[in-house]
Amino acid sequence: MEVIRAKHAGVCYGVERALDMANAAMLDDEDTYTLGPLIHNPKVVEELDANGVHVAASPDDVQEGIVIIRSHGVEPDVLATLRERGLTVIDATCPHVAKAQRSAAQLRDMGGTVVVVGRADHPEVLGLCGHAGERAVVVANANELPDELIEPVGVVVQTTQSTEKLESVVEAIRARGIEPTVKNTICFATRQRQESAARLAGEVDAIVIVGGKNSSNTTHLYEICKAHCPKSHFVEGSDELQASWFEGCKTVGVTAGASTPADQIQEVVECLEAM
Ligand code: SF4
Repeated sequence: MEVIRAKHAGVCYGVERALDMANAAMLDDEDTYTLGPLIHNPKVVEELDANGVHVAASPDDVQEGIVIIRSHGVEPDVLATLRERGLTVIDATCPHVAKAQRSAAQLRDMGGTVVVVGRADHPEVLGLCGHAGERAVVVANANELPDELIEPVGVVVQTTQSTEKLESVVEAIRARGIEPTVKNTICFATRQRQESAARLAGEVDAIVIVGGKNSSNTTHLYEICKAHCPKSHFVEGSDELQASWFEGCKTVGVTAGASTPADQIQEVVECLEAM
């Protein structure tokens, strides 16, 4: 079985930057926390915890020390609260997410409904809503658009969503006779990973997507692969691979989300090659 890696896969610029900042913070003697798991990858989070960078579930759980804002960013009032408390704040918000936050604030200032395309419970989306103001509505797809949209309507999108999803929401708004102001804030790394996963999934007999099951961008990669290759399998690590999935396959592709480190991808590749 030939194993082919996607041209673009694995840890992106924003996640690498956040990990570098966390590693630098480890050198300090102070208690260090990340506000929520630094990245959506349980294995990496366990390693960080073992090295003294612990997960705080909410701002109230951090009373002193260093707090790291992860690449997903936070609502403006959360940042203000942490600073007022006198904590050392390391802001690892990915620059692409920061740009999406600024776009959300610009749309808020237009005064109408701000449609945020994304997963309502995702931390990046919560942060975007904090910048988009009271008239923000989160939709996962066009069916979730509310009956009433106050003009002028703006649309901003979670950085890891797919272009198809954004376009379907924009088209549904246009179908109501409203021309929205659209800020396409899907990041370059996400687009690259989605395009190369789609290309590879169309060329191989089976494909494995590696990453945390709680990772939004990895889940999208899985959905994209599934549309092009029925034998698409989403795993967190090589221990989940089953030989029966690849019976009769001559080629298998491997791709990975933006929060999957290189060593986890390599383990899966080696395991597949050994099958
Ligand atoms: Fe930044 Fe994009 Fe990576 Fe998210 S997926 S951290 S927006 S580079």
